[in-house]
Amino acid sequence: MKGYHSPQVDVRVRLNTNESPEAPPEGFGAALAERLARIDWNRYPARSAGELRSGIAGLHGAAAENVFAANGSNEVIQTLLLTYAGPGRRVGLFSPTYALHAHIARIVGSEVVTAPRGPDFALGAGEAATFVAAERPDVLFLCSPNNPTGTVEDPRTVQVALEAVADYGGVLVVDEAYVQFSGREPGRFSAVDLLGRDAPLVVCRTFSKAWALAAVRLGYALGPAGIIDELHKVVLPYHLDVMTQEIGLLCLTDAAAADRRAADLVAQRERLAGRLAQLPVEQWPSGANFILFRPTGRDGAVVWQELVDRSVLVRDCSSWEGLAGCLRVTVGTPEENSLFLEALADVLR
Ligand code: PMP
Repeated sequence: MKGYHSPQVDVRVRLNTNESPEAPPEGFGAALAERLARIDWNRYPARSAGELRSGIAGLHGAAAENVFAANGSNEVIQTLLLTYAGPGRRVGLFSPTYALHAHIARIVGSEVVTAPRGPDFALGAGEAATFVAAERPDVLFLCSPNNPTGTVEDPRTVQVALEAVADYGGVLVVDEAYVQFSGREPGRFSAVDLLGRDAPLVVCRTFSKAWALAAVRLGYALGPAGIIDELHKVVLPYHLDVMTQEIGLLCLTDAAAADRRAADLVAQRERLAGRLAQLPVEQWPSGANFILFRPTGRDGAVVWQELVDRSVLVRDCSSWEGLAGCLRVTVGTPEENSLFLEALADVLR
């Protein structure tokens, strides 16, 4: 197996890992220092992270028993797969999608079964249901908005996938790392709307994108208490350190900040898409903080290198299955986006 890597190259414009281009607001560090000054460093942290989980639950009209918090949504995914997948079990996904779903599934010894997405990476409810009924994966992943394509899943597809796994006792995991970029609430669809006591559904969220906290490593799952209890049995004791918990609590004091930041980035994304439309590239509509595009008539990997030569780093997806020639650019600050567009125009001239 190969590891999962995104090159950390020293460049002026870094648009390769879908981070927020803006840091948390001024005063964040001072407020955190105040909180940290009150910590009993010799004691283990709150094992159940109850206060943080209650705060997160409050964002979704849920209860703490419906929230599992962990070190990034990657650890959420790992814990889910340790709990519900493994040797003799199957993990289903629709490719292309976030590589770590399959990567961790294999690491824990499960078989990975994959269905290709249709033209323009769309996924119909009918195709999803047929795949699930035929393969009966123990864990089925849907990623919406999908990384790296930016595709937002039709609510009907999510609903049908949930019904299909419920039929034989599987679990549906909807990874919503980028959901804040797919529209405003109310009105924006989220799989959270489908959660219920008996629905075999888990929704993953992260603080790494719209919350601008990739450095911290905090993510969470929302799900029925029965599933969340199982995750707590599997994860290591005290896995979520006291600083991560404090930072999460501090963020929750201004929960609207994530949506505000996302709205600014969506405006930037649309500007970027408008400018890309004037260049010789194919692009796909995105509901996330990135855009997938393919230079037409130029080799993707060569274009990637020529951008790096101009101190602009994007993600090279050109060798990934189903993504021949494709690159993915994260939406940055207005200045970063302009520098990217200038460099790309220059490379494609
Ligand atoms: N899910 C998706 C779809 C992602 O793109 C990412 C980050 N690239 C993650 C989960 C992991 O995020 P984190 O571990 O930082 O919460």
